[in-house]
Amino acid sequence: MLRITNKIQVAVWLGLAMLLSVSAPFILLWLFLPPLPLPVELPIYVTRIAIPLLIVTPMALIVLVMFLRINQTTARLDATIARLDAHVKFDSLTGLLARGYFLSAVEQTRGRGGYFLMIDADHFKSINDNHGHHGGDAALMLLARVTMQAAGEKGLAGRLGGEEFGIYMPGVTAAQAELLAAGLGAAVRNQNLELNGKRVPLSVSVGVAHDEAGVPLSEIMKAADEALYQAKAAGRDRFVMASRPAHSAAA
Ligand code: GH3
Ligand code: MG
Ligand code: MG
Repeated sequence: MLRITNKIQVAVWLGLAMLLSVSAPFILLWLFLPPLPLPVELPIYVTRIAIPLLIVTPMALIVLVMFLRINQTTARLDATIARLDAHVKFDSLTGLLARGYFLSAVEQTRGRGGYFLMIDADHFKSINDNHGHHGGDAALMLLARVTMQAAGEKGLAGRLGGEEFGIYMPGVTAAQAELLAAGLGAAVRNQNLELNGKRVPLSVSVGVAHDEAGVPLSEIMKAADEALYQAKAAGRDRFVMASRPAHSAAA
């Protein structure tokens, strides 16, 4: 289909269509009819120019404007789809993958094993209480950036909701997952977040669960959540490796 995106292109194509409609009968008649004397030829010339122009101009204009409208509508639809796509894929506050998209990306990445880290900011409510929701948002954005950096290019990082994040690391060993969780905790601790002129200490608790083939992701997440709960109960600012999911323990 013609890619007509503005009125200048409409004018150019209309000019071309008019030129073609006028010149085509001239060329054909010149090829097949012997020249006539000018007084006879003159009214024929006028007719040859006027009739094609009268027919082709409005028709070409209608078609070209239709093309223009179709292309403009398609461009608007493409932009809307891109916006919706970003809305579905990314969390608007932190830029991390949104929960639904993150979990389906994890499902697609699973297969060769890995580790799931469930991360929860410690005492986050007090940040909101002391520095307002805006301050809490700033802290969340910082935590999200550290989480994304910890996941690196190999891992997936998402916001599970509220002040909870998830990392999925495919193909890593238990030792590597422990290093990752410890590194993430240290990186969060070392952030220098200042709100209202005061340094705000940040920490996270992390539950780490092994991803096993054949075990539903919901079970892996449940195991990570239980480990996270243990990390909270043990004093926060730490990670706990989950024992194997209940599913395989019972087997
Ligand atoms: P714990 O160490 O036990 O996890 O304590 P906590 O205070 O972090 O946990 P709690 O569940 O009591 O509070 C979580 C808080 O996170 C409450 C909620 O207002 C805040 N929160 C969740 N989502 C957002 C958000 O998008 N922006 C801000 N500013 N706060 C949020
Ligand atoms: Mg929470
Ligand atoms: Mg919390």
